[in-house]
Amino acid sequence: MPFFDSAALAALRRLRGRVAKGALNFLLPPLCPRCSVPVADAPAFCHACFSKLRFTKKPFCRACSFPFEGYVKHESLCFACQARPPAFDRAFAPLLYDEASSGPILALKHADQTQHVPLFARLMMSRAPRVYRKHDLVVPVPIHPKRLRRRLYNQAAELARFVGRGWGMSIALDVLERSRYTPPLGDLPPRKRLLVLRRVFSCGREERVRGKAVLLVDDVMTSGLTAEFCARCLKRAGAREVSVLAVARVPLARPKLSRAI
Ligand SMILES: [Zn+2]
Ligand SMILES: [Zn+2]
Repeated sequence: MPFFDSAALAALRRLRGRVAKGALNFLLPPLCPRCSVPVADAPAFCHACFSKLRFTKKPFCRACSFPFEGYVKHESLCFACQARPPAFDRAFAPLLYDEASSGPILALKHADQTQHVPLFARLMMSRAPRVYRKHDLVVPVPIHPKRLRRRLYNQAAELARFVGRGWGMSIALDVLERSRYTPPLGDLPPRKRLLVLRRVFSCGREERVRGKAVLLVDDVMTSGLTAEFCARCLKRAGAREVSVLAVARVPLARPKLSRAI
């Protein structure tokens, strides 16, 4: 008869994991991604920073998640989506992009702070409506290879990996490509972004997308144009459905698209 039964061994393993985690936390205490004070549990915001974050709350547009003010029926569409529905079927981001959330998100994007990926990915997973869990494939918004060589990681791909593993979905990093290099688009007005983004994305491996429900992952949804053109590519490649999941959303209405664009 063995000295330990399997339940006791499992308990010992859990204890060893906790001791190792405790020792690591003692040596390198986890920090709040916003103000860098040590926090008890990783990954987490400190209480003061968490209380400053603004979360997406109902009611919001059912297609693009534009937040409505006052009483609006939750299943409504915003004016831009009524005028022309987006190419994606739905979009959601747990946080509103503002003074409180922008610092840690920009640090994730530009300052190698990838240790905060689990925190943001868990926020996305815990607050997204249930329909987001039912997809076949997770696809990140790509960055151009030139930018990838400089930055060494794509923050959207890191988030997509975590979300895909967490929800047990296949992750496809090579389906969507950014085939044209563009300067940073964040400061461009929507009209200019639109002209730049129209021919930036391509979908290389159509057989992997055909007939699939795709979860498109990004860090920040600004005007929704990046998501729009990625979703058009995926739909042209045969995707049955495209949902967009980002960390944060700029609380601006989608720009209206003319029929020609
Ligand atoms: Zn803090
Ligand atoms: Zn909308």
